[in-house]
Amino acid sequence: MFLFPILNLKMLVNIINKLFEYSNNYIEVRIDLNLPMPAFSIIEKNIYGRFVPVILINEKIMQENENVIAHIMAHEWGHHVSNHLELVPPPPHEMPSMEERQKKEDEADLYAAKFIKEYMYDRKPIIDFLNKHPSDLENRLKILNSQFE
Ligand SMILES: [Zn+2]
Repeated sequence: MFLFPILNLKMLVNIINKLFEYSNNYIEVRIDLNLPMPAFSIIEKNIYGRFVPVILINEKIMQENENVIAHIMAHEWGHHVSNHLELVPPPPHEMPSMEERQKKEDEADLYAAKFIKEYMYDRKPIIDFLNKHPSDLENRLKILNSQFE
């Protein structure tokens, strides 16, 4: 099994602690090597029936650059603190519209941009990463850069 190198684990913990400090919200972060994307946010019930916000990450397909990881984690953190997640998934006919989903993605990106700026992460590797995964590229770059003007 592939394990997170200890340095990267320390780096991840460092980012998570900054996000806790920044938001005053605790989100559980758990590694899931079967996750088909770098990170994904859920709310699950623990064994006592209490709802727990969780960010799942797949370290195998996560970038190694600290700035990129900080941006990815802050984006997911933003989904949680902005109350974007449903406690119970809605039935298919009540799924959010494209516009609603886009609005949530933009809000999460704005949250990440503010966090990146506040903690003086380097924007350059994040921009390089977004360029390599050019989904909604122009809009995402605009949101990121909006905090640095
Ligand atoms: Zn998102």
